[in-house]
Amino acid sequence: MAEWIADYRERLPSLPVLPDIAPGDVLSKLPESAPEGPEPLEALLEDLDRLIVPGLTHWNHPGFLAYFSSSSSDPGVLAEFIAAALNVNAMLWKTAPAAAELETRMVEWIRRFTGLPSEFEGVLQDTASSSSFTALLAARERALPGTREQGLRPRWNAEGRPRVYQSDQAHSSIDKAVIAAGIGLEGIRRISSDPQFRMDPEALRRQLSADREAGELPVMICATIGTTSTASVDPVAEIAAISAEHGVWLHVDAAYAGPAASLPELRPLFDGWERADSIVLNPHKWLSTPIDCSVLLFRDSEAVRSSLSSTPAYLETGVEARNLMDYGLPLGRRFRALKLWFLFRRQGAEALRDMLRSHIALAMEFADRIRADDRFELAAPPSLSTVCFAAVPPAAAGERDDTEARNSWNRRLLDMVNRRGRVFLSHTELSGRFVLRLAVGSAWVRAEDIEAAFQELIAAYESLRADEPPTTE
Ligand code: PLP
Repeated sequence: MAEWIADYRERLPSLPVLPDIAPGDVLSKLPESAPEGPEPLEALLEDLDRLIVPGLTHWNHPGFLAYFSSSSSDPGVLAEFIAAALNVNAMLWKTAPAAAELETRMVEWIRRFTGLPSEFEGVLQDTASSSSFTALLAARERALPGTREQGLRPRWNAEGRPRVYQSDQAHSSIDKAVIAAGIGLEGIRRISSDPQFRMDPEALRRQLSADREAGELPVMICATIGTTSTASVDPVAEIAAISAEHGVWLHVDAAYAGPAASLPELRPLFDGWERADSIVLNPHKWLSTPIDCSVLLFRDSEAVRSSLSSTPAYLETGVEARNLMDYGLPLGRRFRALKLWFLFRRQGAEALRDMLRSHIALAMEFADRIRADDRFELAAPPSLSTVCFAAVPPAAAGERDDTEARNSWNRRLLDMVNRRGRVFLSHTELSGRFVLRLAVGSAWVRAEDIEAAFQELIAAYESLRADEPPTTE
């Protein structure tokens, strides 16, 4: 198995990053029922190579430049192996004392790595979605005490409609949290963002005041450091001041960008996040940790614990210790802390900071190439390791001035690039425009992959212009 893993990782760059596959292709090749008896490991590995690997989008591929990447460094892979062998469930301190305490310490290592003050504590969750949901439950309980007992309705009626504030660039996980928390999507106030896609704090202030006057109930403000489309950074210091003025819970979604707080030169981007009530950042995005691993940090652990904890007799232990089940929805929890422990100890914080810096430099070099080529233009200010851009169709194509035609040109271009399998880019929509997006963040990315992305874009552009299949050297 270890050989298989090493071999896979070695041949990854030669595989297409995206599979040539249609929905149902893999399913149709899998037996409908489980085998009655055991099969040899060789047969299983053969099928892994034959059925599964060719049917995957390879997230560890060095040409994976889509979404926000999630990549697994070697220490992370080995820690997963060992975590499965140990198979502890750290739901209670007593059910896995060392795992529970390692988790506490790893959250502290992350807190120090990112320069947050000591009042923050936290836990590891599976995803940022779960982390933000947990934060919202605590915020809801603070704004509407007793909701955990009575549900939302009685307090909602007495005190006004609960409201959650986020910019129009916030991630959909906040929407989902709002749905799951019973507040409902209509409770969201989508605050406009400025031309650089950052929340407009004055618009937030006005909306909060108007809602207060109308007798509505602000529950949580979510600011984002590193939005999903453009990696823009909300002005957190100003937002923190507004949240303090109105006494509203401030949650900071730094799921992608959080690790970059470890770089002193980028600290100004994080100004004010130390005043948040809760913060989420994902080592499984920009810190080489295999999915899943999200850190939820909070200032008042009692607020989180008391909003959600529920301990039946069969889970009572009589031991005075922090039980991790109290800080999230799931009871059972994987031994995720092992991944961070292995990562930090095998690589060291300095190497991780170097990686982040090199990703930012690669993204900025790519942005320079885009700026310098009149076939393309930037669609948003490049931020951190993310670049949004668009192709400018040739004048002769008659598609320059019509947004729909332009969008369709860019869609075809992206499809062509991705089909060729050397790199994988994603897209987003900005003010009605279809925009291409390159985000650097994988532990495996090299300068040659960014160069390949640029060459693939040029080749696709020229082939679309000539209406011929693309060619690169
Ligand atoms: N927040 C931001 C800013 C994101 O970009 C994402 C995903 O890309 C998430 C939250 C959700 O992350 P997860 O998949 O860990 O729930």
